[in-house]
Amino acid sequence: MSDKRPEKPWTSRSDGGFRAKTVFVGLTREALAAFKTTEKAWINEQLTEILTRRKQACDLVKGLEASGLFRLKVGRTAFSTKAMEFYNGACTPGETYTTPEEKWLDEQEKQSHDETVKQSQIAYRDKAVCWLIARGKRYGHDFTVEGAIGLAEQIAFEEAVARQKTIWMWHGFEGQNCDGPCDGWNGVDQRCQCGNRRVSWTQGDGHTFEHPSVYGEAY
Ligand SMILES: [Zn+2]
Repeated sequence: MSDKRPEKPWTSRSDGGFRAKTVFVGLTREALAAFKTTEKAWINEQLTEILTRRKQACDLVKGLEASGLFRLKVGRTAFSTKAMEFYNGACTPGETYTTPEEKWLDEQEKQSHDETVKQSQIAYRDKAVCWLIARGKRYGHDFTVEGAIGLAEQIAFEEAVARQKTIWMWHGFEGQNCDGPCDGWNGVDQRCQCGNRRVSWTQGDGHTFEHPSVYGEAY
């Protein structure tokens, strides 16, 4: 059995930048997974050896304990109580160790994910600009690039509410816990059918100007 840890099939170097960071050349999830399998087998061999030595040491300690207890003429209970006091707090659970490779891959993936999110935000913002212009809003006059999403979502909300108001029906609403029987809210009046709750339209989770979502909510 070799004492030598298996070699990693990638290399590391510093990027030499102002905030020098380690770059792993040739590191992929697949390479890491394959290496971990090899490394795990090696670690298991090492652990087997450590545990074999530990068992030998334990057998020795047990022998010492047995002869000591026999000499002192005390039972297991007295010994255990003292042992608890002696070892209490000595062993704390270890922290999870993340290898530099795993950290690096996580960072790479996070950066790539952040970039994707940023790109989709930009694309959504650009669509909002076009959407507003199509509704006759003037760029630089009625809205700015920063305010485009907010305005588009607000207008889409108002349009969705106006559409709802043309549909005559009893809507269920958030916070409908009226004291007596209540058919719901008609989407137009300020109060529900029984008059117990004030209700208004609210933007739903995931409301966008492309897919507006509104629901009634008591306030
Ligand atoms: Zn009601």
